[in-house]
Amino acid sequence: MPGLSSGSALRPGRIFRLIACLALALIAAARPAPAAAEQNAGLTFGSKAVLEALWPPAALAGAEAEKAGKRLESADLAPPARTEPQHALPVLPPGLRGSIRRVDAGGKKLVALTFDLCELADNAAGYDGAVVDALRREQVPATFFAGGKWLRSHSERAMQLICDPLFEIGNHAWTHGNFGVLDATRMREQVLWTQAQYESLREQIAARAMEKGVSPQEIAAIPALPRVFRFPYGRCRPEALELLAGLGLAAVQWDANSQDAGGGDGDSVAARVLAHARPGSIVLCHANGFGHGTAQALPRIIAALRGQGYTFVTVSQLLAQGRAEAKTECYADKPGDTVMYDTMFGDGTRHPKKK
Ligand SMILES: [Zn+2]
Repeated sequence: MPGLSSGSALRPGRIFRLIACLALALIAAARPAPAAAEQNAGLTFGSKAVLEALWPPAALAGAEAEKAGKRLESADLAPPARTEPQHALPVLPPGLRGSIRRVDAGGKKLVALTFDLCELADNAAGYDGAVVDALRREQVPATFFAGGKWLRSHSERAMQLICDPLFEIGNHAWTHGNFGVLDATRMREQVLWTQAQYESLREQIAARAMEKGVSPQEIAAIPALPRVFRFPYGRCRPEALELLAGLGLAAVQWDANSQDAGGGDGDSVAARVLAHARPGSIVLCHANGFGHGTAQALPRIIAALRGQGYTFVTVSQLLAQGRAEAKTECYADKPGDTVMYDTMFGDGTRHPKKK
């Protein structure tokens, strides 16, 4: 009967709907804020349970003596124990191809701090633990682009970074090869040897964590392989970009160059980062001992950007929240500015000979 089907406040159906609405509102209020959920884009990079099971806080803390690297008497050209990773990544989708400079995140104030861990064939680079300590202290997510040989020569530190849920690990080539110069076979080796080395370390972590009784679910939170790559020297060419796309790795360069490897101090590093960072920026720094003032600049950079309303994310979290702005060439600050490295460093894997 139409006359009874509307208008009555006491009708059981309406009371039920009111209760249902109230329950839904309460459930919605109990969920994490959408901003927090979006911030990590559902991606995990490690496990606190694994990290804490394998290392006490004192073993995670940086040590000043580890910062400086040293030149080797002769180049270390030994390949990793495994030269091909056992896992494979899906081919890169069109939206992630090219040399990514930054991300258009629709005005969202997101910024990705990145730290390169470069190591050439003829040097043993360092580990700037003060940088990692500062990020952990402030709980700032970040991405480390690690050379494959660096992962091998710093295996304990590398495993700590791989396990830490704050940090994403990217690939920075085996011995810092120059992808503007290397032939196809050697470019492939530089990428895949590094993927394979990461995979071996992840297996060591898994074995150690299982011995300590950590659950398989926690171990599974550690990515099987890096999914992002950074070209050493900011050098690439179309064949290199195609190779990476086929291997499923996004080439991530930067739009905010801290120039921390070029001398200077904490003041100049902080000033350059703050002058260039904008929503969707990717910031270039170093954590292999090449940086000058990087760790000193970090607390200032973090406080200033947070004060301006920015949220820190890893590179993959940033890419998941917007449109990658990519170029067909690689450079530091403007096209052509890294070509000089072809003559200075040749194939890139060794320092120039001293005259
Ligand atoms: Zn590098």
